[in-house]
Amino acid sequence: MSHATKATAFNKDEAKVNWHDKALWYVREKRDKSAHKVQGWEHLRQLGSSIKANVLSNLDDYLIQFEANAKKNGIHVHWASNAEEHNTIVNAILEKHNAKKVVKSKSMLTEECHLNPFLEAKGIEVIDTDLGERIVQLAEEPPSHIVLPAIHKTKEEVDVLFQKHLGTKPSQGNPEYLVSEARKHLRDKFIKADVAITGVNFAVADTGGVVVCTNEGNADMGVHLAKAHIACMGIEKIIPQEKHLGVFLRLLARSATGQPITTYSSHFNKPENGKEMHIVIVDNGRTEQLSRPDFRASLHCIRCGACMNTCPIYRRSGGHSYDYTIPGPIGSILSPGKDLKKHSSLPFASTLCGSCSNVCPVKINIHEQLYKWRQIIVKEEKQPVIKKTILKSAAVVLSKPKLYNIAGKSARFALKHAPKFMIYNKLNAWGKARDLPEVKNENFDDWYKKRNKNG
Ligand code: SF4
Repeated sequence: MSHATKATAFNKDEAKVNWHDKALWYVREKRDKSAHKVQGWEHLRQLGSSIKANVLSNLDDYLIQFEANAKKNGIHVHWASNAEEHNTIVNAILEKHNAKKVVKSKSMLTEECHLNPFLEAKGIEVIDTDLGERIVQLAEEPPSHIVLPAIHKTKEEVDVLFQKHLGTKPSQGNPEYLVSEARKHLRDKFIKADVAITGVNFAVADTGGVVVCTNEGNADMGVHLAKAHIACMGIEKIIPQEKHLGVFLRLLARSATGQPITTYSSHFNKPENGKEMHIVIVDNGRTEQLSRPDFRASLHCIRCGACMNTCPIYRRSGGHSYDYTIPGPIGSILSPGKDLKKHSSLPFASTLCGSCSNVCPVKINIHEQLYKWRQIIVKEEKQPVIKKTILKSAAVVLSKPKLYNIAGKSARFALKHAPKFMIYNKLNAWGKARDLPEVKNENFDDWYKKRNKNG
């Protein structure tokens, strides 16, 4: 199903769409206030972008350096070329520990690899411990946002969900009550877990350690209570030196939620005494993306979600309409690289306004990459006949000024005098939710000529 079809379903609940739009815009405004408080914010963005460009140009060296340092610290390092290998490695570690209960902190990579269903099919209980992730897990839905996974759910919906799965009392969506019940429920899962899985925000090449950012402290709680820790990371998570964390931690928190710093920035550099730590480094299509000159900068992404919060299409179509692990503008340039046919509608889910590129903390030229994908898709994929015909006709009209003027005059006449049904019908998808602007009597050309004639 295309993005437009899925977005149509989301748009049926107008009140919810308005609320979703406002909630995300609120986060965008918080980001603006927080970023504007930092002197040299633009310089910081440039620095983040340059460090990432350096990483991508020397990725092989940094990865090998990271592996060597991690091993020196007593960490087991594993390499996975794809999702299947990643899941098999994780499962083998769990089998070694005879683990039947796993707690997981937020990790978009394990979502991308579909780790949960893989492990559940082997009889392993996997509990997502980030509150938003747990909500969507109970609802049997994927996250709809990379930082705010349950942003599409109202508190009243969470109330009903918790009553069903956690046995809570009806509370009319009282957030304090719901959070305290979730805390009790998760505490029990933490205590009983055999192994903790976390994502990785940054992997530091010169120390061999990883940094995980959470606001709930769930990664720390899981890791410190379980007998083994598995950290799963994409190859692009590397940063060269520990001092570079000063750049990225400031960029990440402010861009994601408008906080000056994430509540917990946890550094895991070695296993605790008597415990094991594993790092699984995953490619899963990233090398291929790296080899595409027009799209390699998409690997700068630090997963802050700011491009989603600002995108007018994302805000009004919801994360699930993208049907990809990473939704929104960044997902729309990552997904076609994975499966062009399946995700061919996503680069078109944009106004190309460039707001995503303007807020991106690592200066990814997102809207330009969206436009590049469109060009590739138009060449490689079949386009609807009606769209092709309209664009071909438009090219003829727009390239001939006289014809353009005649077409403009006819259109103005038709818009004024034709019956409404002739303009607002099935062929005019644009008019489904919009009124065309009031038609002027003259166009710019007529006005300009008249102005020159009158001196
Ligand atoms: S593309 Fe930029 S703005 Fe979007 S999630 Fe990644 S880092 Fe954040």
